[in-house]
Amino acid sequence: MELRENMDPFDAVNYFFFRAAEINKLSDAAMGVLSGTYRELRVQIPVRRDNGDLHVFVGYRIQHNAARGPYKGGIRYHPSAVLDEVRALASLMTWKTAIVDIPFGGAKGGIEVDPRQMSQSEISQMTRRYTNQISHIIGSHRDIPAPDVNTNAQTMAWMMDEYGKRHGHTPEIVTGKPIALGGSYGREAATGRGCVILMENALKEMGVASDGVSVAIQGFGNVGSWAASVAHALGYKVVSVSDVNGAIYNGAGIDVQKLLGFHAETDSVVGFPGTEKITNSELIELDVDVLMPAALGEVVTQANADRIRCKLLIEGANHPVTPIADKILTDRGVKVVPDILANAGGVIVSYFEWTQNIQQFRWDEEDVNTRLANRLNSAHLVVNDFADANNCTLREAAFALAVQRVTEAAHLRGYL
Ligand code: NAD
Repeated sequence: MELRENMDPFDAVNYFFFRAAEINKLSDAAMGVLSGTYRELRVQIPVRRDNGDLHVFVGYRIQHNAARGPYKGGIRYHPSAVLDEVRALASLMTWKTAIVDIPFGGAKGGIEVDPRQMSQSEISQMTRRYTNQISHIIGSHRDIPAPDVNTNAQTMAWMMDEYGKRHGHTPEIVTGKPIALGGSYGREAATGRGCVILMENALKEMGVASDGVSVAIQGFGNVGSWAASVAHALGYKVVSVSDVNGAIYNGAGIDVQKLLGFHAETDSVVGFPGTEKITNSELIELDVDVLMPAALGEVVTQANADRIRCKLLIEGANHPVTPIADKILTDRGVKVVPDILANAGGVIVSYFEWTQNIQQFRWDEEDVNTRLANRLNSAHLVVNDFADANNCTLREAAFALAVQRVTEAAHLRGYL
């Protein structure tokens, strides 16, 4: 596939897939199967607004591949959650679950909506409708949703409740639930914590001592706020964070614990005392050791890749770097830990939550965190060794290994 800017998101993920397919010498037929999606469901979601109007939203559940186990992936509520974007995110889940070796495939769901314009009761109604509309293709051994952008533990509680009305109590139908409803200790923090584990590993390899390492994080939602909080607690200097309203900066470091309180009160990071307001674009181009995009995709593109000044980029968000920008960063010597490895902590603890629900037995938080770190460290080692042995980037290595594992499972099942 030709490298160009302005690729659609699914083409962009497949650009990396096709490179991995070449390394694995996949047949054309196998490439055809694995570069496409298995099933795509588009649903209408009529919602009676609080003012009495009926609004019809559009939602999707895209199942990419289940050779290694049930489909798994989050649900996104965002105006940009259109078909192609959801396909791209579903395919990333297939490669992510494979690279961290958990027995799931890849899927993603989304509704084209800005939930910030809706009341809680409207969001609950929309979530319940959507759950009903996709309920014939999900299942606790078929397809297990989780939170993503603008969805959270409460959303999962509504989904579980709605699914349970027809199927009986089924906590393992979704992960990322509230603790009170069978959620796992450590799940909420897992993606951000995982990003920091990968950041520490990469810094060690680069020979950078952790003292005074500066970190900028875009996004202060589930992933960004936990990454900031864990990094701050470990002594890293978090100099900039942002949300949809803008970014804040303090070169001496931001007190993330205090910022969490401010954010809980004001629903924004902007205006936090002792910080200067900057833009999200300025955050991306800051002169920092580590940049962690943890909001939306495609924030590093051909347009700004030349101006990125970090030494290490940890992809907390999915697909934050376009393929052409990835090449520019590699040529400029910026180390990139790819999304399918960097943000896999969430799906790893989702897997732990699912296993705990099936066993009806809860693990303590220390147990969860230790197992999370073990899984991520092993995946990191395997990817790193492959990259060294084949003189390729971590992204190329991660995709090559993931494609190898999915292909093997598909062959063994007899459908490749
Ligand atoms: P979230 O909804 O909890 O938080 C998103 C954050 O991004 C918010 O702070 C929001 O204000 C900010 N944001 C939204 N639009 C923005 C914009 N245009 N510019 C700057 N900031 C903006 O979402 P999340 O769950 O933290 O997910 C963030 C990213 O991490 C997504 O790419 C998601 O796919 C990825 N991810 C999430 C998980 C998970 O467990 N939640 C796991 C793996 C990957």
